[in-house]
Amino acid sequence: MDRLRFGTAGIPLSTRKPAGKESRTLLGIERVRELGLESMEIEFVRSVNVSAEVAPRAKELARKNDVVLTSHGQYFVNLNATDKGTLAASRKRILDACRRASECGAWSICYHAAYYMKMPAEQYYPNVRDQLASLTKQLRDEGVKIWLRPEYGGKLSQFGDLKELIRVAQDVEGVAPCIDWAHAYARSLGKLCNAKHFGEMLAEMEKGLGREALDNMHCHAEGIAFGDTGERNHLNFSECKLDPRELIRAWKEYRIKGVITCESPSIEGDALVLKRLWDKN
Ligand SMILES: [Zn+2]
Repeated sequence: MDRLRFGTAGIPLSTRKPAGKESRTLLGIERVRELGLESMEIEFVRSVNVSAEVAPRAKELARKNDVVLTSHGQYFVNLNATDKGTLAASRKRILDACRRASECGAWSICYHAAYYMKMPAEQYYPNVRDQLASLTKQLRDEGVKIWLRPEYGGKLSQFGDLKELIRVAQDVEGVAPCIDWAHAYARSLGKLCNAKHFGEMLAEMEKGLGREALDNMHCHAEGIAFGDTGERNHLNFSECKLDPRELIRAWKEYRIKGVITCESPSIEGDALVLKRLWDKN
């Protein structure tokens, strides 16, 4: 990626209402540009809600407006499911989202890949790794080009702490981490909270995956509330102790490039908070 871009998790809230059959996704891309933001995450979290007809138009419009598109896959996925039906459904959801996201020209797609299901790492890790390997192979065979990114889990029961994300990205071609900085904060129960801690995470990524990983970041950042088991819910930065300036400091120090998607309730408000802090320093 050429630089660090900031954008919204979904269609900006201030996007005007569609008239007639206008596509909200297309209006959202234009609104992102009007706001001075540079990326938008297409939210397939409940369903793949961009039609095959709109997808190539989204791709073209994003290119014209210099907006990078990413996607967030469905929530109902568990690549460590013991039930064969759940596993097959999870795989299908991922493949469907990847195909359509790629038709939209999305560069990267993130997922909450799996739950530990109370298994030890020797058991769940190979399950997740082998599923991701088979998914990326199938996508390659179909000619679908998109980064598949398991996301840093906000809850202690979710697959995806930093070590696991680095390991699976080393083990599986086409897989890279999606770092949700607020999830790292929540999962550590507030311990990972300042520029030094966040910088150490980036250093660990560089050590495990090379400088390329820091030039190819797909991240989430937002305010968050947490309890004993990690993430509770997302908040605006103004309602949360996680200070966005600490994130910005670490990102600057490591000169990261890629996309920061803001998942605060005020998606464009906090995306602009981050972008302004980034541009100022
Ligand atoms: Zn997510």
